[in-house]
Amino acid sequence: MPSRPSERARVVILGGGFAGLSAALELRPDRHEVTLIDRNRWFEFLPNIHELLSGVKTPELLRLPLDRTLKRAGHRFVRDTVTGIDTEKRTVSTRRRDAIGYDALIVAFGGVDATRGVPGVAEHAMPFKSVDQCHRIGKRLARLAERRKPAQVVIVGGGLEGVEALGEILRSLRGSSMQVTLVEARERLLPEAPETLDAHVRKLCEPYEVDFEMDCPVQRIEPKAVVLADGRSLPSDLTIWTGGPAPPALLSVCGLAPRGGWAPVDLTLQSKDHPDVFITGDAADLPTPLLKQGYHALDMGVCAARNAERMLTGRELAAFRPSAKPTLISFGDLTCFLVSGKHTLAGPSLGAAKEAVFELVMTQLDAQPWRIRLPRAVRRADQAARTLLWPTISSLESLRRQSHLSLL
Ligand SMILES: Cc1cc2nc3c(=O)[nH]c(=O)nc-3n(C[C@H](O)[C@H](O)[C@H](O)COP(=O)(O)OP(=O)(O)OC[C@H]3O[C@@H](n4cnc5c(N)ncnc54)[C@H](O)[C@@H]3O)c2cc1C
Repeated sequence: MPSRPSERARVVILGGGFAGLSAALELRPDRHEVTLIDRNRWFEFLPNIHELLSGVKTPELLRLPLDRTLKRAGHRFVRDTVTGIDTEKRTVSTRRRDAIGYDALIVAFGGVDATRGVPGVAEHAMPFKSVDQCHRIGKRLARLAERRKPAQVVIVGGGLEGVEALGEILRSLRGSSMQVTLVEARERLLPEAPETLDAHVRKLCEPYEVDFEMDCPVQRIEPKAVVLADGRSLPSDLTIWTGGPAPPALLSVCGLAPRGGWAPVDLTLQSKDHPDVFITGDAADLPTPLLKQGYHALDMGVCAARNAERMLTGRELAAFRPSAKPTLISFGDLTCFLVSGKHTLAGPSLGAAKEAVFELVMTQLDAQPWRIRLPRAVRRADQAARTLLWPTISSLESLRRQSHLSLL
């Protein structure tokens, strides 16, 4: 409830990723005084950051400036790191400012990289969770490809991120003498996807210098090696860590989650203990667990914003109903998978669908008037065609391959 009835209710949003930004864009500035706080100055489109490894995307294509995007929507952006929440006083503390008060709070911190307690990850492996990090990996790969001695690259993690990283390395470096090893603690690649994908990905890699170490937990990372639990040491000039998402410690520091856990919420996305706090995106732990995915985060952001407004105006809240959307997993220019439940379609042309989702969401979040959005979308699509599509169509045979789809 607004503390001063004549004024607009203060809605504070913590985090400007998929969930936080979509929540902000759903709120009307004439009804709410919206402040979004993020330590980063950009919204980053994480599902496509693997494309920075091959250079088919540049950092600028994957980012939107939060200050301008929010200003256009009539909201305020504060660039700062959140350090705590006082749920009694209804204030948020940050590293550099005085406490910021709220009437409703939307928490959208996302996740952090899961290091799984493996020693040496922070010191000797390159993380894979932001535009800057993947851009740095891309530059390092390019340098390694230029040197005379064959380079050894180890990717730790055979989930979505690790497999997409491997695909991008093969897109740009399969002519080089680089040797890539993918290490996975579980028995198969992409354990959340249907089983057939594992064999399909490995078959695609057969012609190249790629090894798979499956069922092999990592014991520690050293400056020039990855040591496995069975004692073997894999030489590595570059170790890429794709550990998946883990809960940020801040959730439990703020009293929203048990130690080391995600924040439990009701179906309305309200924190179990604090009904004026909504938790959205990866940070939320719903009664029925949900995959930590960008499209769910977008929908949860919208739902949290609408429920915050309903709460502030004394109306009944609505339950979040996740929509079933297929997952698109790209594998460089070799193929792309569309996974829907137990079914999988594969074919390079599906890469265009993944690109279309990317373009559509970026255009939607850009909050520009349509006369500006439209030409910008056309420019982005043109650039995507030049970097992604045309280089892969080198002959009639490759065109046939592009248009071929198979059901796995
Ligand atoms: C490599 C990779 C590939 C992926 N591929 C896919 C895919 O193909 N399809 C798909 O649907 N999903 C994919 N995902 C998952 C998807 O990106 C996440 O589900 C989504 O980003 C979650 O959105 P969010 O808003 O909850 O968190 P995020 O997008 O992570 O945003 C969190 C925001 O909070 C900010 N923040 C955090 N802590 C603080 C703090 N203390 N103070 C201030 N600001 C803070 C961060 O700077 C960030 O901007 C992928 C993720 C990664 C990393």
